[in-house]
Amino acid sequence: MNESSSDYKKESKKIINRLLIFSTFINLALTIIKYVLGKWIGNIALQADALHSGLDVLSSVIVFSAIFFSYVKSEKFPFGLYKLENIASSLVSLLIILTAFEIGYSLLETHEVLHVSTIKQIITAAVLFLIVVLMFLYSRYEKKIGIKYSSSGIVSDAEHIKSDLFSIFIIICSIVFSIYGLNIDRYVAIIIVVMILHSGFGLLKNSTLALLDINIDKRTIDAIRQEISKFDHVNEIASIKGRKSGRFMLLEIVVKFDIASFEDAHKLSSDIETTIYKKFPNVDNVIVHYEPIEKKDIKICVPLNKSNEISEDFSNSLSFLIIDYDLSRQKILNTQEIENRFIELKEKKGIEIALFLVKKSVDIIVATDHIVNTGPYFVFKTYNKKFYIVNSTKIDNLQNLLKSISDKIYAKQTLEVARV
Ligand SMILES: [Zn+2]
Repeated sequence: MNESSSDYKKESKKIINRLLIFSTFINLALTIIKYVLGKWIGNIALQADALHSGLDVLSSVIVFSAIFFSYVKSEKFPFGLYKLENIASSLVSLLIILTAFEIGYSLLETHEVLHVSTIKQIITAAVLFLIVVLMFLYSRYEKKIGIKYSSSGIVSDAEHIKSDLFSIFIIICSIVFSIYGLNIDRYVAIIIVVMILHSGFGLLKNSTLALLDINIDKRTIDAIRQEISKFDHVNEIASIKGRKSGRFMLLEIVVKFDIASFEDAHKLSSDIETTIYKKFPNVDNVIVHYEPIEKKDIKICVPLNKSNEISEDFSNSLSFLIIDYDLSRQKILNTQEIENRFIELKEKKGIEIALFLVKKSVDIIVATDHIVNTGPYFVFKTYNKKFYIVNSTKIDNLQNLLKSISDKIYAKQTLEVARV
């Protein structure tokens, strides 16, 4: 990471935190104003809404302290304490639900209708209207900043503030009605209680699912899949599993590569990990497991000499028998005998032949151990081709030879040391 981008990250984090703290203070002010005004004019709905704002403050405080502690990683908690945030959210949601029920219960009790002066009600409605206008402007500004710094936390805080405005708006309506002698604040309070319950259960659901290690959402999985498939040699993405821990994701990915060398596969998988960290900043930990692809059909090459036996001198073989073989059914699909057109070559004969066979996508070379440490041997090794070393050059039964090769592959033994 270069310096300017890390500066940008620090700067944006500062702005984001400052905004979230500011929102918390706004909610604190709202709690007090709503409660005082609600008591002043005896409006139950406004008092209920004060409680709502109070819970918003409490949930911000819990989330802030959870975030603060969640960055702690220790030997005892190597994956960090990000889940504190989910636990905190669960507790807050339970609190919200309980409060909603309590308000609902108090609505069932009979209240004597207070005779409040019209002027008090007009003042309250006017103050609330001013709050709605100011809060609406603030939420728009906050959303703009959230989009600018691509912070989902800020954007959802802005959305929350905007949705909270709805309840203030209907409370204003109820006050206006009561000025004309129509007391509907109890029904408005019911609507607010239902809204509080709705957000409480939503929060409880999300935090519980995160605690139960629900897989990350499909859109994120698809985006990760797309990034991985951009890499060469990735033959198949077998699975992408993830779980959420607070705002962070822990990922486990299984991919199949069409390379056999351990070093290459290891490098490729760590390249994939680096890319994921870079493209998905919310990923805290990613593990890429790789498996070689399981080939169903393979190409086997048998170098032949004049007497139609396995050639001990690979470079001077007369021809090459190339067999397409179905491993699962142990069946020959196709055979083709190719003449050794490099036989007259003075230099690098074996290497040219090997490269030619690599181009033909040969997978396994049948040979005697004379091939070990020759030029073609190293070419094949470079391209991750396998050898099937035989003791006898005689081919008594091709079917049996192929069968024992496929048995060895199924037994997952190293072909290089396999002997007939
Ligand atoms: Zn709220």
